Amino acid sequence: MKNLNIGVVGGGIGGLSAALALQRAGFRPVVLEQAPVLAEVGAGISLSPPAAHALNSLGLTDVLRTKCFHPEDQCVRHYQDGRPLNWINRGQALIEKYGERYYLVHRADLHDALAAAVRANDPTAIELDRRCRTVSQDGTGVTVVLADGSERRFDALIGADGSRSAVRHEIFGPIEPEYTGYIAWRGVVPMELVPPEILQPPSGIFLGPGHLVNRYPIRGGKLLNFVAFAERKEWVEEGWSIRSTVEELLKEFEGWTPMVRRIMELVPPDLLFKWGLFDREPLKTWTKGRITLLGDAAHPILPFLGHGAVLAIEDAVVLARAIATSDRLEDAFERYEHARVERAAFVVLESRKAGKVFHAPDPEKYPERTKGQAADEGIGLFAYNPVTQPI
Ligand SMILES: Cc1cc2nc3c(=O)[nH]c(=O)nc-3n(C[C@H](O)[C@H](O)[C@H](O)COP(=O)(O)OP(=O)(O)OC[C@H]3O[C@@H](n4cnc5c(N)ncnc54)[C@H](O)[C@@H]3O)c2cc1C
Repeated sequence: MKNLNIGVVGGGIGGLSAALALQRAGFRPVVLEQAPVLAEVGAGISLSPPAAHALNSLGLTDVLRTKCFHPEDQCVRHYQDGRPLNWINRGQALIEKYGERYYLVHRADLHDALAAAVRANDPTAIELDRRCRTVSQDGTGVTVVLADGSERRFDALIGADGSRSAVRHEIFGPIEPEYTGYIAWRGVVPMELVPPEILQPPSGIFLGPGHLVNRYPIRGGKLLNFVAFAERKEWVEEGWSIRSTVEELLKEFEGWTPMVRRIMELVPPDLLFKWGLFDREPLKTWTKGRITLLGDAAHPILPFLGHGAVLAIEDAVVLARAIATSDRLEDAFERYEHARVERAAFVVLESRKAGKVFHAPDPEKYPERTKGQAADEGIGLFAYNPVTQPI
């Protein structure tokens, strides 16, 4: 197995984490990424303790320490007057319970660090401008046909090509995306523009009927990231990068506390985007023969618990462990699925539930509604450690 020639389709956070984990286990994977340059969208991402354990094991402790914002408390507030509905510790209490804390990071900072680590191990590991068109397999390997018609051959293939995965489509057929009725805006605001008094504490969630705003610092506190969710009956395009306007956003959040509206007023128009949220049914199996899936390709997820990238990073570490400690690829993929499918389905379903809880018509009932739930205290979410999870 040590000489296994492994291809990874997709150089997002999941694909790069997989490549790095495989390299550290002694393999020489090749990542095929469709984009001509590696670039992540300008948005934040929260990393909970399971992702932190995984990134520590990948040698990226320094990124957690120096590139992330370290929230201590997160406050859940009422949309009209901003009164606190709940306080949640994201620092010391988590360290005591789960051995790690929450980290808030710019996606590009994490993505850059992963790419640099992969390239430091093997400068040729990431191939850009390589869009996978089709995949097929036989008794000896997997053939990837790229958009330019050229072919690549691997012993095993990991499809880490996101929620609209071409690899998944090839091995399991089409899975229709379903519009959820949620739309979202994301934006980043230079922190020096934000009045400090509306950032008490910096990490905050605001709940209103049918609406949710989550905002937190990234890039070590230099930028303030926000995501604002609303509900719309009509279909909105899937994807991250549809332009919006500050006026449209403010109209949707009329009557909200200045703690939210002020941030929306400050967002530079070229850093404001909107998109529609689509959902897909979780797959029961991720593997066919020599091909398996990872990250959003395997388990597309709604963003309400901020755990999509966390799951992708967990997958990567567990998959590399399974490959490194199995004698046959078939066993490796079976052990990987065994350790991951149930966990991922749990987080996917909890994320759906959380959307409903956050958007409930009576935000004042939030504390009682979420007592003992994943949506607030991370029950069932944070106790997973991909580095030590039996596989
Ligand atoms: C608003 C919002 C907020 C979020 N916040 C959080 C958060 O706080 N915490 C968190 O953990 N997660 C969060 N997520 C989820 C997270 O962003 C995703 O789950 C995560 O990025 C999945 O990583 P991935 O590598 O599996 O897929 P992707 O990031 O989609 O990467 C897929 C890669 O594959 C490439 N690709 C696609 N097709 C092909 C092809 N045919 N050939 C070659 N390459 C291809 C793409 O270019 C891309 O580079 C959020 C998501 C949203 C929408």
